[in-house]
Amino acid sequence: MDWKGHTILGLVFGLPFISSPEQIFLALAGALYPDLDHDVKEDIVKRGIYISLGLVLINILIYYFKKEYFNLDLFILSVSVLLIYLIPYFANHRGITHTFWTLILVSVILGFLALKLTIFSPVLAGIIVLLMVVNEKLLGKILIIAIFGWIVLDILKPHSLVSGNLSYILPVAVGYLSHIVGDSITPAGVKAFYPISKYKLRKKEGYILILVWFLMVLYIWKDIILSLLIFK
Ligand SMILES: [Zn+2]
Repeated sequence: MDWKGHTILGLVFGLPFISSPEQIFLALAGALYPDLDHDVKEDIVKRGIYISLGLVLINILIYYFKKEYFNLDLFILSVSVLLIYLIPYFANHRGITHTFWTLILVSVILGFLALKLTIFSPVLAGIIVLLMVVNEKLLGKILIIAIFGWIVLDILKPHSLVSGNLSYILPVAVGYLSHIVGDSITPAGVKAFYPISKYKLRKKEGYILILVWFLMVLYIWKDIILSLLIFK
């Protein structure tokens, strides 16, 4: 599936799980991250490695020379971001970035990073996370779609269905899931449990995952659905 398909699917999957407008950027980041393993994305991955490695080194220097300024959270965050780029750097295409393991890891890291960045500005936090995974060629197009979605959501004021850390992790995870679904229904399939199992998810499994997503939507929206039913 190409970036257009993944963008559309990411929006569809992500929208029911968005509790704050800027989280639309996170759903898209989740939907687009797995294809960082393409050769064409090498520039953005290398740039990410240099920047995050620089941050890790700065943290280490601060630890040795100005210990009172050392911040453990910041250090863990820098190492986590480095990990986000090292994974696709060493991955084969449709390899480890297309598994449920990286879905969990990347969602936690990107979601947590976005949550930390919201102290400066929620929308900037979303844009930064999206910038981290989209290369220059697609950035213009995807940013326009994302910002348009953000404006619409900002007017509509989404329901706050999930709170705390999870509210930022979930949109990334659901966007990521949409990518695995999208690639499952293509002829090549996805080894989403690699390296534990080489079982390939294909069309059938893709549809099962869509059902899982739908059940998750029902669960998240259950109070609102129930109140609507009772009201009628
Ligand atoms: Zn893919």
